[in-house]
Amino acid sequence: MTRDLKVPLQALRSEHRYRSRRILEGPQQPEQRIDGRSVLAFCSNDYLGLANHPQVIQALRRGADTYGVGAGAAHLVNGHTRAHHALEDELAAFTGRDRALLFSTGYMANLGVAQALLRRGDRLFEDRLNHASLIDAAMISGARLSRYRHADAGDLARRLGRTVRLDDDRDTLISTDAVFSMDGNLAPLETLASLADTHGCWLMADDAHGIGVLGQQGAGTLEYLGLTQAQVPILMGTLGKALGTSGAFVAGPDDLIETLIQSARTYIYTTAMPAAVAEATRASLHIVQQEPERRRHLRALVEHFRDGVGQLGLELMESTTPIQPIVVGASEKALQWSDALLQQGLLVPAIRPPTVPQGRARLRVTLSATHSRAQVDRLLQALAGLVGTA
Ligand SMILES: *Cc1c(COP(=O)(O)O)cnc(C)c1O
Repeated sequence: MTRDLKVPLQALRSEHRYRSRRILEGPQQPEQRIDGRSVLAFCSNDYLGLANHPQVIQALRRGADTYGVGAGAAHLVNGHTRAHHALEDELAAFTGRDRALLFSTGYMANLGVAQALLRRGDRLFEDRLNHASLIDAAMISGARLSRYRHADAGDLARRLGRTVRLDDDRDTLISTDAVFSMDGNLAPLETLASLADTHGCWLMADDAHGIGVLGQQGAGTLEYLGLTQAQVPILMGTLGKALGTSGAFVAGPDDLIETLIQSARTYIYTTAMPAAVAEATRASLHIVQQEPERRRHLRALVEHFRDGVGQLGLELMESTTPIQPIVVGASEKALQWSDALLQQGLLVPAIRPPTVPQGRARLRVTLSATHSRAQVDRLLQALAGLVGTA
């Protein structure tokens, strides 16, 4: 006996939670053609505009000329090329960590860390708004999961105080998004680092949305907050967002990296990312470091957008990152506004419960260094029109 899959699918439809894909024709850039219409998109994670950068594309081509397309094997067999190795060294230097290790996706990196470090009965503390991949990592690790209130180090401290004994033989990991993907705010990492130190825990930061964007060099949230490897020993960064390519890395102390190589199943039992993607990422890493003006322009856009939205009397979140959600409240209203914007050629997704709390549905706007000020003004004008009709 198996259940009839039509029933739950129909239920999703009737709850307006059915999701479908739009078809994009062409590269990731502000002006796109999607589902046959031209739109100005405000939803990409390509924060620096590197996904379609000529030097990155050229590096990918050169990489394919040298290494072919597929890696053909896992890193531990014969899929680990000089290009992968060079990128790992460059990522370690970039983030100021001893070593870095490539994974094929951020999702797999998060699963791999938890599974390699934690055993059944160990403890894992996570922010309640952590990315789904960190939550799934808890399940695969077999550790006991405790989810503390969002960005609330006090709640974490109470939970640690109740459960963590320094003299037992259980290991403890605290893991958090560094930049929260639906809100754009930062985790209180300095306080988390001192809690981890006091209670003898590992601390992991998932900086998917900070790498490339935050910090003077673009090395992310930890650079921005001035946090060392001793304070935050486990850093996960993704390559598919601001770096514009694909894949992820974990950076940290030598013993951590060796442990992942020896025992992270999502590292061992999968084909290495194409070497050409590693070459393309080396090119984008170079641009991230050499062209701080991209981050400067992006910061100016964020400020301009926040000023404009504030003047309209709309509610923004506490975010200084390119993730700038506008809270509209009811799901229906978020959907209506998203649809109305699309009618005007502006692509801004509505994010609704259960992804965000009840009554906190929002338009999730993301900005990119490739947006112009005039394009942001177009969005502000359209929003002004919506406020006028509300
Ligand atoms: C996107 C994202 C991931 C997953 O990274 P992929 O490389 O896309 O698998 C993990 N964590 C956070 C916070 C993310 O936003």
